[in-house]
Amino acid sequence: LTVGVPKEIFPNEKRVAISPTAVVNLVKKGFTVNIEKDAGVEAKFTNAELEKAGAKIMAKNDVFQSDIVLKVRAPEVSELPLFKDNATLISFLYPKQNAELVEQLAQHKLNSFAMDMIPRISRAQVFDALSSMANIAGYKSVVEAANNFGRFFTGQITAAGKVPPAKVFIIGGGVAGLSAVGTARNMGAIVRAYDVRPAVKEQVESLGGEFLEVGIQESGAGEGGYAKDISQMSQEFRDAQMALYAKQCKEVDIVITTALVPGKKAPILITKAMVDAMKPGSVIVDLAAEAGGNVETIKPGELYRYNDVTHVGYTDLPSRLPTQSSTLYANNITKFLLSIGEKEHFNINLEDEVVRGSIVTQNGSVVPPAPPPKLD
Ligand code: NAD
Repeated sequence: LTVGVPKEIFPNEKRVAISPTAVVNLVKKGFTVNIEKDAGVEAKFTNAELEKAGAKIMAKNDVFQSDIVLKVRAPEVSELPLFKDNATLISFLYPKQNAELVEQLAQHKLNSFAMDMIPRISRAQVFDALSSMANIAGYKSVVEAANNFGRFFTGQITAAGKVPPAKVFIIGGGVAGLSAVGTARNMGAIVRAYDVRPAVKEQVESLGGEFLEVGIQESGAGEGGYAKDISQMSQEFRDAQMALYAKQCKEVDIVITTALVPGKKAPILITKAMVDAMKPGSVIVDLAAEAGGNVETIKPGELYRYNDVTHVGYTDLPSRLPTQSSTLYANNITKFLLSIGEKEHFNINLEDEVVRGSIVTQNGSVVPPAPPPKLD
């Protein structure tokens, strides 16, 4: 069987769904790997390096004629006619948000798998691209914050005087939030974090952060380890949460927000009035910007200053570290592919919980979503 990897065409997308190591692993298992010329250039994987690993470098149209196509971003509609019938596509797809694309994938007779739908069970951790990308986004959010902040993160006592450490407040302690806690602590900042799920407290503290609480015994933990929609929480809880955010905004130098609820618009947690009360020179990084943002004044995709507070609304943080994000993503996607089968034994087995959870279309039809996995 042939595996094709085209160059990503989404504007400014620097990642690619393959790495030299992943090529070696696929070739070892009997696949032929076809990569579009220059597909890896932005991730610093040269054509020569990929070829040396065992791949064939070719033109876009030939790559799309492969049996299995690996991508980072969902294909554009213009790319669909390039696939051959009954080919398999694996990429991020977000099927709930992209119903029209899903219909088109079925019409083009593609068997498709969404990397974002892989159940988050222990066995599938190695395929979990949401986590590997969130980890990178969390790290990069702190680097962006530091880059836009006009002072040190770490405190210092020097002959010329004392420099206080920066104070960082992180909302949401999922994979990205915890990665940001660890990174900001390593850079010497004082780190506070908050999440509606009480289970996060221990994780924040183990990374050296302080976990803030609203003082009301009400858990925001919803299904599958995710947060409940904030509208499901009591008014008393919501008011206490907003009071906590308002207080932190006045005190800290950096606010990093990561609060997401799967498939929904991100809740607004930092209001314009809270931003107005922040110190001049403060920085906000909103990792929920792609889902509308947690910050009322954020502009998704943009870096701008409002009221002397720098707003970082980038929606492509993993793509801004393209070598590592491509290396980890390629690892996730090729290991998932190899779990479905090798060379002549590639066989879509719907009895497999991971395959069933992530399959989106098969044999010209849309496959209904699987029931939520039993978490272990
Ligand atoms: P996410 O990106 O969906 O959300 C980020 C965080 O924001 C979550 O921790 C959530 O609780 C929090 N949040 C949502 N609304 C909030 C609000 N109003 N105020 C404050 N915080 C709010 O999260 P994620 O990184 O995808 O992780 C989600 C869950 O999946 C976690 O329980 C995580 O431990 C779990 N997980 C499991 C595995 C695995 O077992 N393989 C892998 C990764 C993640």
